[in-house]
Amino acid sequence: MTPRLYLFDIDCTLLWTGGAGREAMRHAMLEVFGTNDGIDDHPFGGKTDWLSLNELLTPRGFSRDEIARSIPAYDRAMGVHLERVIGAFDVTPCPGALDLIHHLHVHEHAELALVTGNCRSSSPVKLRAAGFDPSLFPVGAYGSEAIDRDALPPMALARAVEYYGHAFRAHEVVVIGDTPADVQCGRALGAITVGVHTGFCKPGELASSNPDYLLDDLTQFSMITL
Ligand SMILES: [Mg+2]
Repeated sequence: MTPRLYLFDIDCTLLWTGGAGREAMRHAMLEVFGTNDGIDDHPFGGKTDWLSLNELLTPRGFSRDEIARSIPAYDRAMGVHLERVIGAFDVTPCPGALDLIHHLHVHEHAELALVTGNCRSSSPVKLRAAGFDPSLFPVGAYGSEAIDRDALPPMALARAVEYYGHAFRAHEVVVIGDTPADVQCGRALGAITVGVHTGFCKPGELASSNPDYLLDDLTQFSMITL
């Protein structure tokens, strides 16, 4: 059987945070940049946190270089603030997500990793709050490491090859996410792409990105023959 590497998005793919991420970002931005203007109606779907910071801060006079230099401090701040606020939010796993991750974890020919727009620090906080064991995702690529989401799957793949000791080829990789940006970054790698309708895409938006598989939610994942 062909070994597979499964690269999962977090928000609206594995779990919903009920607004905890936005609230943590509100505090982290204020701490690191002194402003969080525009955050209330900022669309985060499919974006890396770094891209969101560029979109929010460059119109307010920050240079891209300034933002880049502050990313390590911002990553630290996000972890601290998310940990502090997340208990006040209703964080829930998406339908089928906990069972699927358990199934893939125990599957002999499946390995798990993350490709997420979240910071490295905030990813395990969200996973834990929704009932996932973050250690089941021992490697990943994060939104604090690149502006462009397309840069993340190659990083995650290289780390997974090293960690799992298997030279996964691109067509043995499966990228799962809820937005056209998830599908696009998987396609850029040459991976199999799976779109799930558990996010906030407009009707037809995810389908028009042409994922290899399109699911209502992860309860349908077992119907896919990969
Ligand atoms: Mg998402």
